[in-house]
Amino acid sequence: MSLSQESQSRLDAIVARIDAARKRSVRPAPFTHLIAVSKTHGVEKIEALIEAGQTRFGENRVQEAKAKFTDLKARHPELELHLIGPLQSNKVRDAVALFDYIHSLDRPKLAQALAEARTQSGHCPALFVQVNTGEEPQKSGVIPSETAALVHLARDELALPVVGLMCIPPAEDAPAVHFALLANLARDLGLEFLSMGMSADFETAIAFGATHVRIGSALFGERD
Ligand SMILES: *Cc1c(COP(=O)(O)O)cnc(C)c1O
Repeated sequence: MSLSQESQSRLDAIVARIDAARKRSVRPAPFTHLIAVSKTHGVEKIEALIEAGQTRFGENRVQEAKAKFTDLKARHPELELHLIGPLQSNKVRDAVALFDYIHSLDRPKLAQALAEARTQSGHCPALFVQVNTGEEPQKSGVIPSETAALVHLARDELALPVVGLMCIPPAEDAPAVHFALLANLARDLGLEFLSMGMSADFETAIAFGATHVRIGSALFGERD
């Protein structure tokens, strides 16, 4: 199979699984957008997926995304780029210039830095607050009990465009409880979007109302 045939058939298969999971769900979100997670994969594979019809892409490092997507975005203005990895304060300016969405707002200092970058650039990507639902010490994200305070600071005091919550469940847990927790927090805070679900668990995430699923290996193959 050629790269373009393989990309098309992988994309079609994932889109069909997303549709089927939505149909099986009692209360699916109004939509579920597919973010193709292209970290570690080269521009050729990304372009093949764009040709197959994919427009939303996720990267977890600012520098890697800048190297790959500055040119791709200029050539394909319809692309929507999502930062799904942790963001250091010194990369905020680059991230604000490049990404349409940032899924990793997880601390007050970062909210302040984003507000400053918005003042300077006149624009700010849409933001998800990342929640460490498993309260894992090594993982980024605000803990559930501090989520409301961070959302109030970012959205209400700093007037940042906070649109939803994001989580990455602990590898060893059944993901459903984490997706349910994230959905409850978002509902209580009046947030519309839920970024949850990866290659191994996106169908479960859809059952709990995911609006954005982040899928890498099931679309691109295993990473090196
Ligand atoms: C890599 C990554 C994904 C995609 O993971 P797959 O298991 O390859 O689908 C999703 N979300 C985040 C935050 C990631 O870093």
